[in-house]
Amino acid sequence: MPSAFSLSNLTDYHTHTPLCHHAEGWPVDYARVAVERGLAELGFADHSPMPAALEPFDNWRMALADLPRYFEAVEQARAAYPQLTIRLGLEIDYLAGHEKWIEQLATMAEWDFLIGSVHYIAPGWDVDNPAHLSRFQTQPVAEIWELYFDAYERCVASGLFDFVAHPDLPKKFGHRPEGDLARFYEPVIAALAKSGTAFEINTAGLRKPAGECYPDPGFLKLAREAGIGLLINSDAHAPEEVGAGFETGVTLARQAGFTELVRFEKRERQPGARLV
Ligand code: ZN
Ligand code: FE
Ligand code: FE
Ligand code: ZN
Repeated sequence: MPSAFSLSNLTDYHTHTPLCHHAEGWPVDYARVAVERGLAELGFADHSPMPAALEPFDNWRMALADLPRYFEAVEQARAAYPQLTIRLGLEIDYLAGHEKWIEQLATMAEWDFLIGSVHYIAPGWDVDNPAHLSRFQTQPVAEIWELYFDAYERCVASGLFDFVAHPDLPKKFGHRPEGDLARFYEPVIAALAKSGTAFEINTAGLRKPAGECYPDPGFLKLAREAGIGLLINSDAHAPEEVGAGFETGVTLARQAGFTELVRFEKRERQPGARLV
């Protein structure tokens, strides 16, 4: 008899707060849902502040001045739900040339994990922002993917992050180049292996026009063959999204041959849930 799907061994480390101006629900609200749904661990990873010289940078990230509020909000959730393990992290936009800033951010708290992300593929062009959707009409999709994956490879190779987010984000609105996509994935997988960086299955793609998790099964298979560490995350921007799509995520991971996930505590990688 098939047993009911359970979240009880799983972690969700990629969630956002109102401090980034486009998410709802405070850590205490996310924690309540995580407890209700029986997750083993919950982590916060709000969009990181940019270096002061670049601010105001955009309208969808935390201000540096709000970091103390972020820490307080996570502490409040820990105090309200002592039975739940709550991790502190950050989703950091990797911008080439600003590595020093990321090193500084890394010293600003006792982080459990730092997530590396690429949203910007050129100055002022965040590839997942619907405001720039028309660019997919005026530039070949394969070129847009190349810009993204080149930046993503550099993000991974920087070695600054514990894991990286949404590996094939430019498919968000349903744009995929023709042919075998392994040509985009392979340099990234090599960089993941070399730098010892893990990556996530991000279930937010299920809730977007892409209609599938990031990354696609082709990426997962190559990553499995290369022995890359894996997490499953929701990228929740509202409490009800905590753990969303995890049954699909676990199925994808198993189908690609993954037998276990990884966890992080104080930026040290540890064995996570068994998938068998
Ligand atoms: Zn966001
Ligand atoms: Fe992101
Ligand atoms: Fe996110
Ligand atoms: Zn994200």
